[in-house]
Amino acid sequence: MVDKSPYDILFEPIKIGPKTAKNRFYQVPHCNGMGHRWPRSMARMREVKAEGGWAVVCTEECEIHPSSDLSGGALMRLWDDSDIPTHARMVEGIQRHGALAGIQLVHNGHATSNRFSRIAPMAPTARAVRYDDPLQARGMDRQDIRNLRQWHARATRRAITAGYDIIYVYAGHNLTLLMHFLSPRYNQRSDEYGGCLENRLRLIREILEETKEIAGDRAAVAFRFAVDELIGPDGIRCDGEGREVVELLADLPDLWDVNISDWSNDSITSRFGDEGHQEPYIDFVKKVTNKPVVGVGRFTSPDAMVSQIRRGVLDMIGAARPSIADPFLPNKIRQGRMDEIRECIGCNICTSGDMLSVPIRCSQNPTMGEEWRKGWHPENIEPKGSDDSVLIVGSGPAGLEAALALSNRGYEVVVAEKDNKTGGRLNRECLLPGFAAWRRVIDYRSYMLSQKDNVNIYLNSELGTSEILDFGFGHVVIATGSAWRIDGVGRGNDFPIPVGGVEIFSPEQIIDGTVPSGRLVIFDDDHYYMASALAEWLHELGVEVIFVTPSSRVASWTENTLEQQKIQAGLIRRGIPIICNRIVTGATEGEFTLKCTYTGTEEVIRATGFLPVTSRLPNDILYHQLMTEKDRFGECGIKSITRIGDCHNPSTIAAAVYHGHLHARGLDSPKDHWPKDQWPKDQWTDFRRENIQI
Ligand code: ADP
Ligand code: SF4
Repeated sequence: MVDKSPYDILFEPIKIGPKTAKNRFYQVPHCNGMGHRWPRSMARMREVKAEGGWAVVCTEECEIHPSSDLSGGALMRLWDDSDIPTHARMVEGIQRHGALAGIQLVHNGHATSNRFSRIAPMAPTARAVRYDDPLQARGMDRQDIRNLRQWHARATRRAITAGYDIIYVYAGHNLTLLMHFLSPRYNQRSDEYGGCLENRLRLIREILEETKEIAGDRAAVAFRFAVDELIGPDGIRCDGEGREVVELLADLPDLWDVNISDWSNDSITSRFGDEGHQEPYIDFVKKVTNKPVVGVGRFTSPDAMVSQIRRGVLDMIGAARPSIADPFLPNKIRQGRMDEIRECIGCNICTSGDMLSVPIRCSQNPTMGEEWRKGWHPENIEPKGSDDSVLIVGSGPAGLEAALALSNRGYEVVVAEKDNKTGGRLNRECLLPGFAAWRRVIDYRSYMLSQKDNVNIYLNSELGTSEILDFGFGHVVIATGSAWRIDGVGRGNDFPIPVGGVEIFSPEQIIDGTVPSGRLVIFDDDHYYMASALAEWLHELGVEVIFVTPSSRVASWTENTLEQQKIQAGLIRRGIPIICNRIVTGATEGEFTLKCTYTGTEEVIRATGFLPVTSRLPNDILYHQLMTEKDRFGECGIKSITRIGDCHNPSTIAAAVYHGHLHARGLDSPKDHWPKDQWPKDQWTDFRRENIQI
């Protein structure tokens, strides 16, 4: 007899219209920066998730017509029949593992500018397009509405031809024409599609009914709906029209996929929201409909998932990011391997792939986006290429990931760490306000390494050149990280900033507990999270902080992690003065000179302390010292010395993890991380390309 597990409920099948999902794990639609541009990469990534146990695997947004053209993003398309084979390939891969394939059909209305198709964008009522492009969306007439319904119907037929099991009607994230019709902000029509809620809902209802009719018993129809926009009375609210819409449509769709809008709220980072943060907004839905309900909340805890189902909040556990960080999350729960779950840290490096139109990447899962082009699999790796042992110096994200991947390959691995704990830079960074979940990058790897008998980790072990040469390891990996510069060199200043008579602090010093007295200038020329997080930290400690940046916005790169707005709002709410478009060019005796990035005009502000967050220097002295001893490598038995992660190239945690993994995959046989029969012989890249043949 098989023992009952508290998690069995997560593996109960559930009917979705004419289809049955084998369990409660539902990969909701999510962008990946690959889409129609790198379709084989996209298809393989989705297939790996199906292999990992997800009962439903969905596409990202799929444009139904060239009047909804998201160029230069890389999303899916079903503009005409020529797109069907791409989808069929992906569907086949998903269904091969017993999962259902879902497609999120979309018309983006004024939320796209049709930069490629050059068709005039459309909206319920004429208005400017969402982005800064200098064009308007034209107001739709009745014929446009009839056309839209036909395009959706045709896309539905094509989706069914491609083999999809679930077809989406999508009114969420403030990104779709259907949501725009619902919203009085965008719909100021006076015909039967405008005015009262029933009228504004008409188009959604018509498309839902038509999609259901076409799908029949061949596919289920899901409705993805944002029940709250978190903007108060101007938006849809879960205690207002959001709820009424669910009541009015109740059992019309076969499944409700509910969330909050916009994308930055739905995919909120761990800095700003906890696991399950959407529950207070969406928990009414199941009380109103008899159809299955799926929702997200960055769920990585099996207990939280069970609780969602037992308490009647959700029927299926929706996930985008947890499925990216660990495509095998369902299988690990089913097999009782909870400790092996690579939990999402909620950093949204994954969304940067979509925002920047390049293949998705992940801080926790280095194989994400590399499944096809490098042949990487999140759970499998090539066996070792020799019996050589490997010494890794440094146990930050790069060193730990290299150790794990190399030990998975079967190498004997020793990690030497000068600190009294593993984790490197993350030991500091997870202390920043809102960054606790980032510890999971260390925790996952530390646990996995603790289970290995071919890995030894030595703490309090600062290694120098002579020890390394004496030890006799076949391969040496230098993962000694980086340190923040304190001279202000970055993008704005090519040379050290002349500073005299003011106290200078480094980010490391602040996190280690130094509290500056007096007024402090934080100069952010890094544009990611560090400077704003330190500003919040020091403000909480009562330090008077002035935030200076050459950018026109605080932490401008965090636009790509959907956080910029929240970060800047946070500083404004705290009353921290923000000075944009200025470079700090010097500081003498309490006077800081700021230069305007546009005019070069200088001004002076007064402060006593300086915290530059501009760029980092690699800790690569050890590496270079070793390389001066190259002639001795042979006699010492050393075959290779490699630097990885921040020591090679200071960057994100995701980049360090990726680099550690890359090195481990390639050790001894640089191309062995490829499926052997697929290596393109005359290609210099270490990844396959998706060329368009003419
Ligand atoms: P990355 O992000 O590339 O992994 P980190 O800065 O997070 O880099 O980690 C580097 C780690 O290397 C730190 O934990 C640091 O203590 C350790 N380290 C640096 N120099 C040495 C050394 N000579 N011997 C052992 N460990 C070292
Ligand atoms: Fe989670 Fe960060 Fe990976 Fe995205 S990149 S899935 S947020 S760990």
